[in-house]
Amino acid sequence: MTGAKTPDATASMPVSGVLPAPNADRSAADLLVRNAKVFTGDAGRPEARAVAIRDGRVVALGDDHDLARFVGPATRIVDALGRRVVPGLNDSHLHVIRGGLNYVLELRWDGVRSLRHALAMLRDQADRTPKGQWIRVVGGWTAEQFAERRMPTVAELNAAAPDTPVFVLHLYQSALMNRAAVRAAGYTRETPDPRGGQIVRGRDGEPTGVLLAAPSALILYSTLAKAPALDAADKRTSTRHFLRELNRFGLTSAVDAAGGFQNFPDNYATVMDLARSGELSLRIAYHLFPQTAGQEIADLKRWTEMAEPGDGDEWLRLNGAGENLTWAAADFENFSEPRPELAEGYEGEFEQAVRLLMEKGWGFRLHATYDETIRRDLAVFEKLAAEGLFPGGNRWLFDHAETVSADSLDRIAALGGALSVQNRMSFQGKAFLDRYGAEATAHAPPVRAMLDRGLTVAAGTDATRVSSYNPWVSLHWLVTGRTVGGTMLHPAANLLSRETALGLYTRGGAQLTGEQDVKGILREGCYGDLAILSDDYFTVPPSAIPDIESVLTIVGGRIVYASAEYEGLDEALPPVSPPWAPVARFGGYQARGQLPGDQRPDGAEQALRVAEAVAESEQHRQWRVARGAGPDTPPPLLDPCFAH
Ligand SMILES: [Zn+2]
Repeated sequence: MTGAKTPDATASMPVSGVLPAPNADRSAADLLVRNAKVFTGDAGRPEARAVAIRDGRVVALGDDHDLARFVGPATRIVDALGRRVVPGLNDSHLHVIRGGLNYVLELRWDGVRSLRHALAMLRDQADRTPKGQWIRVVGGWTAEQFAERRMPTVAELNAAAPDTPVFVLHLYQSALMNRAAVRAAGYTRETPDPRGGQIVRGRDGEPTGVLLAAPSALILYSTLAKAPALDAADKRTSTRHFLRELNRFGLTSAVDAAGGFQNFPDNYATVMDLARSGELSLRIAYHLFPQTAGQEIADLKRWTEMAEPGDGDEWLRLNGAGENLTWAAADFENFSEPRPELAEGYEGEFEQAVRLLMEKGWGFRLHATYDETIRRDLAVFEKLAAEGLFPGGNRWLFDHAETVSADSLDRIAALGGALSVQNRMSFQGKAFLDRYGAEATAHAPPVRAMLDRGLTVAAGTDATRVSSYNPWVSLHWLVTGRTVGGTMLHPAANLLSRETALGLYTRGGAQLTGEQDVKGILREGCYGDLAILSDDYFTVPPSAIPDIESVLTIVGGRIVYASAEYEGLDEALPPVSPPWAPVARFGGYQARGQLPGDQRPDGAEQALRVAEAVAESEQHRQWRVARGAGPDTPPPLLDPCFAH
């Protein structure tokens, strides 16, 4: 990931049968990808073998022979070796700005397949972490992904890290802190519970280390905010590494959904600085989110006087307000708790905010998990529609919408709205299923019904604090209806074809930012944003979709990520700083079989790990049974060889 690159040695891939065409200078491409199975996303020409890019834009698509005329002496040629190429992915709801500011300091359990491995990472990191610093595991995982199918215990955190504060965030539901973190956060028997949250206490009245969102996650984030942050220089490096990590999965664009503790303009300074110096490797459209209750309207007013949606350039642009407009209108997606009832009368202030935005030509996005919230919001929009403010030509959308009803979808369509869905159910689907049952889960969210109405739908993750940012985990959920632990949530009637799902992850995001004519498909004149995939998304078994990565990601004709045969072709990044940061050791998403230092285990070692995980899960089962928590029947032996 780091170190000096020698551009000359890596300027072109070995290629046969293509020689620079004479007098090709003016029509020569900067970069040509050939020998590829290109899925263009363009109905007019769905497939191609080669793509030529000049000045950041696609100049031609065709077969290898057609495009030979675009090869000049300086053209960089990439042989895709027959691999699948797709338009660059676009996560339409990613907390990318905030994620980048913290990325290198987080120990990411994304993709880790056993708790044993997760705890080993924690132990290792505790040994590397200097005094005064914390270890934070901030989302992207759930117990269901572990072979042991359980969360860690506080005792295990204490054993792994006796002296280093450890904060482990689990979805929007809870956080676990070891003894050192409880001390560092200053929580004692005297500390009152914050509103909507609970500091769990033992029989002695002391905090146990468990924090519960009940149902507000504010307690979790405000505790996390007590940990030291990076300085400005390290935030910059951290953001660059996070963007590269996103490029690793073929992402070339994201729509930032803003969020709590993300102040404008302070917390946007890093991406603004990177945009200025041309070092963004991901295109970002951002939203503005009023942070202070009671001051929302004043903030929105000030912002709408300063700027207009669409301001900026192709790398960094403003896309409107949200995902919160006023605090009182926000619901919480903690599916292990009952749905929260929003305050009576939030509509007054909310109407003021929406009216202001619509009058000023500002679009917005609105966080809304439940149909109960959406119906109340729609009533406000319909009132404004009677005055001619909806549909107003401004782009607006609901985010999440897990329980949106058919009737509400019709009303959204009539008001000119769109939707953005995320795979929070990959991580929280089990909790949803347990609380609301199979029938409600089948269409949570009703993606098919949205599309059937012709609504604009974009896909994404809502990473990094609940879901992982890995888009292939999200695409897997859209295509199979399964959680990361394999629980089936949705019937065939609510699943998407791979092509449709990919469309939501490419064109969908571009539609939300009004860039559908230049982004999300590969066509002459569109941005040169694409990914060469490790495996063919269209033909791998469904269960293998989450393991797909990009081997080469191109944004605006720049190679921003390269691995496998292309290792070393990408732009150099400064090393992770500080050097003890978890990402310096572990990277981000843990691919199948990935281990610290990238040593892949041999077969025997791998088998041993699985056996250990199984033994641990059996131990845990016995432990639960001994405490009266579960049935005492061991799982039946189904192997017919043992049946007689
Ligand atoms: Zn949200």
